[in-house]
Amino acid sequence: MPDNLQDLARRHLWAPYTQMHDYRQRDPLLIERAAGIKLYDHQGRGYFDAISSWWCILHGHGHPTIKTSIHAQLERLEQVLLAGVIHEPAVRLASALVDLTPANLTRVFYSDNGSCACEIAVKMSLQYWQQSGQPQRNQLAAVERGYHGDTIGTMSLGGVPEFHQAFANLRFASHRIPSPYCYRCPQGCSAGSCRLECLTPLAELLAREGERIAAFILEPLIQAAGGMIIYPPAYLAGAARLCKQHGVHLILDEVATGFGRTGTMFAMEQAGVSPDVLCLSKGLTGGFLPLAATLTTEEVYNAFYGDYRDNRTFFHGHTFTGNPLGCAAALGSLQVFTEEQTMAGLPEKIERLRLGLERFRELPWVGDLRQLGMIGVLELVKDRQSKEPFTLADRVGWPIYLAGLKEGLLLRPLGNVIYLWLPLSVTLEEIDEILARMWKVLADPANINGWSGR
Ligand SMILES: *Cc1c(COP(=O)(O)O)cnc(C)c1O
Repeated sequence: MPDNLQDLARRHLWAPYTQMHDYRQRDPLLIERAAGIKLYDHQGRGYFDAISSWWCILHGHGHPTIKTSIHAQLERLEQVLLAGVIHEPAVRLASALVDLTPANLTRVFYSDNGSCACEIAVKMSLQYWQQSGQPQRNQLAAVERGYHGDTIGTMSLGGVPEFHQAFANLRFASHRIPSPYCYRCPQGCSAGSCRLECLTPLAELLAREGERIAAFILEPLIQAAGGMIIYPPAYLAGAARLCKQHGVHLILDEVATGFGRTGTMFAMEQAGVSPDVLCLSKGLTGGFLPLAATLTTEEVYNAFYGDYRDNRTFFHGHTFTGNPLGCAAALGSLQVFTEEQTMAGLPEKIERLRLGLERFRELPWVGDLRQLGMIGVLELVKDRQSKEPFTLADRVGWPIYLAGLKEGLLLRPLGNVIYLWLPLSVTLEEIDEILARMWKVLADPANINGWSGR
């Protein structure tokens, strides 16, 4: 049967962000079950889920509290539309999310994935200005190497050319500022000399175009899909200040960073910033079910509120908006945060990860080592001095991925960037074990394709 499945997959499945050609000679990894932070394949082999199944698992796979919450909801109501109807999990979750986030965020609009959460944020802002006497605010600003999803709208605001170039003619125009990429600082600064010169392009853009810009969208503290680029909280605080000065909406995309991954419940807390619009997904349900939420302020909400004839309604929605099972999973996940005091346990784990990562600095192909909470990042280079990257042809991540599997470690390198994106429930012993396995993979020059020996 399992052989059958792998053949069937070759014939009929088309996987996301995957070159299916890779499966020509290799069997796709067939996962049958999971427990805690381990995945098990059809032959019973275990793999540490070191990337939280694409950044969403929080409390481990199969957490009983979340399962119970989903089961209980399944017995009552699996799906109903959220237009003209309300249901308990959607209301309770909206209220819980408002309690959890900064005080100015009071309204929750649901969808079912992170791309939609961001697309909705942008549409909300644009329509808000149309209905608030400033229709000239119809432009958008974003950051190079930012990632907000794969719909045409969010691709338009993305800055990862590798992903988006085929659709260049469909993407709408928007303003773009350089990435605050400390290791490859566009201003040429180093840690000691940095005075946040990287905020200047945003300051200049807003000085020039501020009155025509509706919103600026940003991933707080880490540009994840764009290369795990971690930047200082002061940049986020500065960007928020500039937006406020110019009356531009700040949209924070916490789709990846939300729910504890960075060491605080939300990354924005580390900069003391609250946005006009907040996008959540991935960890929202503890990683159990697809669900997303776009939160905004009473002020934005009020611009859509009025008599039906005024045509101020937000005409956006999805069939599965606020799906009851998804909301129940999210409520279960929030219950785990409370019952297990998840956040209180993180500092010790983050420190363990920090200490364990230090030794990777001695590997000559490790150009940069960075960490944000439960996220540990190694940027590999061909040459430390010049920071010359490995090329597409080197495909440096591929042998590392394969060697990881041999060591029972599921990694998913992003180009030259190898990272751990650990579930919050990982134990100290598991962190040590994951790092030991990662060391075996990365310390072996045979796994570093294209290494020049410099
Ligand atoms: C993953 C991600 C998205 C897109 O979410 P999907 O659920 O994959 O559509 C948007 N923004 C950020 C920051 C992400 O990491």
